[in-house]
Amino acid sequence: MHKPDQPLRAVPAVERTLQALGPIDLPRPVVVNLVRRELAALRSGKAIPGFEAILDRVRDALRVLCDSRLQPVINGTGIIVHTNLGRAPLSAAAAEALREMGQNYSNLEYDLSRGERGGRAAYLEHSLAIVCDAQAATVVNNCAAALVLILRHFTRGERKQVVISRGELVQIGGGFRIPEILEASGAQLREIGTTNKTSLGDYSKAIGRETAMVLKVHRSNFFMGGFVESPATEEIAALARKKKIPFVEDLGSGALAAIAKLAPVEPEPTPSEILKKGVDLVCFSGDKLLGGPQAGIIAGKNKLVSALKREPFFRALRCDKLILSALQATVDCYLRQQETTEIPTIEMLRITNEALRIRGATVLAALEGLEVKASLGEGKAQVGGGTSPRSIIPSVTIDLLPRKMTLADFAARLRAAPPGLIGYIAGGRFRIDLRTVFPRQDEQVTRALRSILR
Ligand SMILES: *Cc1c(COP(=O)(O)O)cnc(C)c1O
Repeated sequence: MHKPDQPLRAVPAVERTLQALGPIDLPRPVVVNLVRRELAALRSGKAIPGFEAILDRVRDALRVLCDSRLQPVINGTGIIVHTNLGRAPLSAAAAEALREMGQNYSNLEYDLSRGERGGRAAYLEHSLAIVCDAQAATVVNNCAAALVLILRHFTRGERKQVVISRGELVQIGGGFRIPEILEASGAQLREIGTTNKTSLGDYSKAIGRETAMVLKVHRSNFFMGGFVESPATEEIAALARKKKIPFVEDLGSGALAAIAKLAPVEPEPTPSEILKKGVDLVCFSGDKLLGGPQAGIIAGKNKLVSALKREPFFRALRCDKLILSALQATVDCYLRQQETTEIPTIEMLRITNEALRIRGATVLAALEGLEVKASLGEGKAQVGGGTSPRSIIPSVTIDLLPRKMTLADFAARLRAAPPGLIGYIAGGRFRIDLRTVFPRQDEQVTRALRSILR
């Protein structure tokens, strides 16, 4: 309990604090709530600081809150599919589709030719099937959801076991662990082989009366080298077919284009290639290399896709109209063979270092006379998002050494400049990899650097 005339008195009134803060670009109830919380925290503390110190504290808390508001940033990391930075940026066509679908009514579940209730996402499912060379396709919230739906469907009867190689029991970032997803879906894990070796015989021995399905997980975010062995997908497919067990592969990234033709990266299997090998169903993410919105795409045998769509659980995993429209626009780009010019993730793979150097030189020229040592450097860009983990794409960086502040300070101030600029520190320099910066952002980069270094 406080003594009535002790520190309590020094805690300023909410209204006075709000006035002293001046205008803040957040809704008033949010600011009031934060000020109340901060002042309450002061009351429970021992000594109460002066008014200015209190204001600083409130301002810091406001900044943290403001920073947590979802907002665009400039990606100078060179990691094209950066999970912390929102994965794939959308194409202009997808962004336009979002605007149009968002601001209007639509035929989401309405049949325009008959004038009555219709199916959902029929065109998208049709075009996804074409782009995957599959009999059928559908889409849910993300790849994790796709996997859960598939697991629940195939293990809902007596047979609960899912046969999977120990070498594929991976964690895929964001706490997504294959064994945990499996068990949470009511499946029973039937691990086979060892971390580095699994043979066809291991699969054959494990498949029995209890087997619900065989699952293969694309080892996407790490590479296993050396003494490694696993049977060819075709062999597992033939075995599964013989034993009449469904065979599913989680592809993770799901490149729809042959990316190894676009950049010096190792090939990423396309859904079409994998389905040709005899896999019954594949699932993959919409917002990794594919370059669309967050989504989980399932493609393969018609009978299986239809059955998945009839699962009551499917309803809980379905995408909303905005996602469907953005994905529809993205897939259309691939079908029109415009991915190399329209899909940002694919464009970023393709852009030449020559082009990056020209842009870099323009930025450098604008920094002349500022308190910084600036030069162009060699970057090591990556696909990211668990794709082609071994592949480094040579790139171009702007390397900066500010004269009047530390690199950590410099990095922090760039993060704070709206839009925040995220680079990395290496070799005693702050570096911005231009491969993941859109040309239209060069101007913003220059402005942010100039304002901080002036
Ligand atoms: C990324 C990834 C997932 C998860 O995909 P989300 O769309 O984020 O749910 C699942 N499996 C693999 C192999 C992945 O690489």
